[in-house]
Amino acid sequence: MAQWEPISDALYATEIHHCDLCGKMLVKRLWRVESEGKSLKFCDARCERTWFDYWLPRYGKP
Ligand SMILES: [Zn+2]
Repeated sequence: MAQWEPISDALYATEIHHCDLCGKMLVKRLWRVESEGKSLKFCDARCERTWFDYWLPRYGKP
């Protein structure tokens, strides 16, 4: 399951979000993915695809 999630740009919102794949700082919105009980966030669906197609099979599992 994946969906866009808005990020509050209010001054009191101090939490900074980074893409779980490329580490880019996320502003305005993030691509939220729920997978195997974990909550991941990405720049967009492209980073999500790279995560599942490339990163996870190579580095994500022992
Ligand atoms: Zn990214």
